[in-house]
Amino acid sequence: MDEMQLFLEIHQNMPRQGPGNTASTLKALKLCAGLPSAPRVLDVGCGPGMQTMDLAQALDGPITGVDFFTQYVEELQKNIEKEGMADRVTAMQGDMEALFFPPASFDLIWSEGAIYIMGFEKGIHSWSPLLAPGGYLAVTEATWLKSEPPARVKQFWDEGYPLMKNIEGNLDIIQACGGEIIGHFVLPESAWWDHYYGPLEKRLEILEEKWADNPAGQEVLAMERTEIDLFKNYSDYYGYVFYVARFG
Ligand code: SAM
Repeated sequence: MDEMQLFLEIHQNMPRQGPGNTASTLKALKLCAGLPSAPRVLDVGCGPGMQTMDLAQALDGPITGVDFFTQYVEELQKNIEKEGMADRVTAMQGDMEALFFPPASFDLIWSEGAIYIMGFEKGIHSWSPLLAPGGYLAVTEATWLKSEPPARVKQFWDEGYPLMKNIEGNLDIIQACGGEIIGHFVLPESAWWDHYYGPLEKRLEILEEKWADNPAGQEVLAMERTEIDLFKNYSDYYGYVFYVARFG
């Protein structure tokens, strides 16, 4: 198995694939005042789709969740069927860097923990034309919360996401892309633990035993442990921030 297959095996059937929780999703949604009664929603990098389903419960319009990996698209599809929402919610395989929707197709574009894959600026720049005039973009993004982080934290993020900014830096990017800033807030630490690092830690324990004789597997597990360990020690230096903006 290559590194990506090992990663996908570790991450299969988890409630989320990144920090987030229902309360934060609904708090961001509340900032999107004046949406049409049945808004058209796109959820980019939806993963297994906890936030997709939260949006589907809260809104009356059609929702499309897009993810690159079939494993997550299938997990969302199961959730859609379990909730009996196949008439309104669609799980679709697709690449966030090549979304073939006509301009102005959506009233709301959502993305939790995924825009970093393209980079915040590139993501906003390429997704915002898909919004109808007055449409909203709501995204979470890994963000520096304090300056001068310890060397260990800085090195980790410099290697993983060198484009990471502080809040002001991201607000500047939104405005430079033509967005009006509606609001932003830092996700609580519980949003990292309850549905993501908590279940992931349990998973790591099981796989550390199962893959005891698998050096490649051990290496991927160690990377996951390092990431969690870093957050345990330095969560005041970085976090996920919800940014809500309006375009057009
Ligand atoms: N939004 C989900 C959540 O909060 O649980 C998932 C967040 S996870 C950190 C990032 C997601 O982006 C993963 O599900 C991953 O498969 C997806 N992804 C990675 N590259 C992608 C791409 N090029 N296009 C679409 N999705 C992608």
